[in-house]
Formats: sequence, structure tokens, C-alpha cells
Amino acid sequence: MRCPRDGEFSNGTLEPYGNIELSPSSGVLNYGQGLFEGLKAYRKEDGSILLFRPEENGVRMRMGAERLCMPAPTVEQFVDAIKATVLANKRWVPPPGKGSLYIRPLLMGTGAVLELAPAPEYTFLIYVSPVGNYFKESYRRISSPPIESWVFVHEGLAPINLVIQNDYHRATPGGTGGIKTIGNYASVLKAQSEAKEKGYSDVLYLDSVHKKYLEEVSSCNVFVVKDNTISTPAIRGTILPGITRKSIIDVAVSLGFQVEERLISVEEVLDADEVFCTGTAVVVSPVGSITYHGKRIVFEQMVGDMFIVGYPMEMAELGLCPNNSTLFLQDY
Ligand code: PMP
Repeated sequence: MRCPRDGEFSNGTLEPYGNIELSPSSGVLNYGQGLFEGLKAYRKEDGSILLFRPEENGVRMRMGAERLCMPAPTVEQFVDAIKATVLANKRWVPPPGKGSLYIRPLLMGTGAVLELAPAPEYTFLIYVSPVGNYFKESYRRISSPPIESWVFVHEGLAPINLVIQNDYHRATPGGTGGIKTIGNYASVLKAQSEAKEKGYSDVLYLDSVHKKYLEEVSSCNVFVVKDNTISTPAIRGTILPGITRKSIIDVAVSLGFQVEERLISVEEVLDADEVFCTGTAVVVSPVGSITYHGKRIVFEQMVGDMFIVGYPMEMAELGLCPNNSTLFLQDY
């Protein structure tokens, strides 16, 4: 069977959250023909809701669908469906500073298929859930707290501790590491839980060929700062082209930083001034330490902190990203 490319997706309906029916021989269950996306809706002080660059997720889902031989909704259908779902769940968007509404679009081969082939039918659905901070290290940062006075409080993120485990790799060249397919995440579960059992926050993966170049963390991209130059691994098909990654590059360039997308060796990261991770779920998370072959290297936080506070709300409002790429939902 040929890759079905431009299948028709109906306009869709809003239904109560619940179990869905799936054929035991569906493409997604048998051959992992499934993709997901992740984005967030934030409540603004004026009550309106901000959706950050949702069309970028629509584009990325289409790119992944092409690799997995699936048709995908158009970017317009994708964004309209996100808007409708968020507005239907607007009471679940937390107040400003109290978290966000995580939005999970799923595209999967739901048609029955026994032979190894693309499924004949597809389903696109979206569900949502209010979320707080991703890493348990997150804390409320309080500055100048004299007794019985007003204190300035903002949600802060404590640095996370990563470990490099060279027995596990996330992706191989020519594989599916560059798309958000469900199987990529099954392959990190063991590495991630072993790291967590040892007290680390997550795993930092190296490339599977040279076992030397930085790739990414289980669910976020990574940036390295050295002498005011910000570097991040180049997109070469084995890491996810993160939407937060791209936004942080845009902001860093607009703030006058030198930004490089290139190969970064493990020796270089261990010699860095600072390391931070980016992603929709983790937002911008400072890295406090990286452990490699039993040696723990500790980092300071300076540059990354600049991006942590206020991302993405202030970034959108300051016009640090093109206005037409940020949606404000105000129609209620
Ligand atoms: N890498 C991986 C493996 C991820 O799962 C994610 C989260 N989507 C990211 C990077 C960051 O991507 P984004 O900034 O688009 O959330």
C-alpha cells in the first residue's frame, strides 16, 4: 500500500473526555503509527488566553505524518481544532502564574491492518489537562523576605540534574528521532526511570554513532553557554526541532547574543559556563549539574535565567516573536 498523504479530515466534534474504541489490529497499536504534539494555553492578567505559536505544532505534525506514511490535518484545521478545544475547556486554564493548560493533539492510524502497511483509517483528537511545573525540583522563589512585610514572589525553577548514559540512545540517523512519534518515548522510559531511581532529573543523550555529540534530553532540547556564546545541537534528523528551542534562538539573537547551531561534543558541554533545557513542558529549565562516567560537573545560571522568567507570555507581549504567530483567544 502506498503512503496515504492527503486524506480528508472531517471538521470534527467536541465530545466529553472518555475512552475511545480501537480495533485490536489498528496501525497505532501494532506498528506504532502514531504522533503527538504538546502545546500550552496561558491565562493572561486581563482574563484572555494565550496560545503560543500553535501553527508551528501543526506544521511539525504534518512533517511527522509524512515520515510515518499518514495523512494529517491541514495547519488551519489543526489550529481551529486547538482553539475550539481550548475555548470549550476555558474554565480549566489556570489563573496567571498558577500553571497552564497542556494541550495534547494525537494523530494515529486507527484502521485495522494485519500486514506491515500503513493503516487505512486515521483519527485526530485533542485532549487537555491543567499542569504545573514539569520537574519536581521546581519551587517558589522568594526574594527579600523580611518578616511581616510584603514579599515579591514568582514561580521559579530550581536547576535540574542530568546524567549521560551511553548505554542508551534516543535516536539513530535515518530513524524517527526528528519527529514526535509515540515510539520514541517508549524507548526512553527505561533510561529515564533508571536515572530517576539514582536521583537524577533526566537523561542527556549523546548521538548513537560517535557516542560523543550532544543530542537532547528525554523531552526537551539543550543549550550550552560559553563566554556569552549560546550553542545548541543542530537539527540533523535525530533531535526534535523544538518550538521553544526556535523561539529562544530568536530571542537570544534579538538580545544580541551570538547563537550557534552545530555539533557540540560532550567535552565541550562539561567545560561550559552554563547549560539549560527548553521545551513546552519544561519551559526553560536551568541545568545545575551533569554527571558523566561518575563525574559530576556543576554549572552556574546566568544567561538562561533571563529567558526563564516570563517565557512565553512576556516574550509574546514584548513582540519578541512575530505577532501573527501568537494567538490570543478573547472571544468569550
Ligand atoms: N525534544 C523532545 C524529545 C521533546 O519531546 C520535546 C517536547 N515536545 C522537545 C524536544 C521540545 O519541543 P517543544 O519546544 O516544541 O516543546
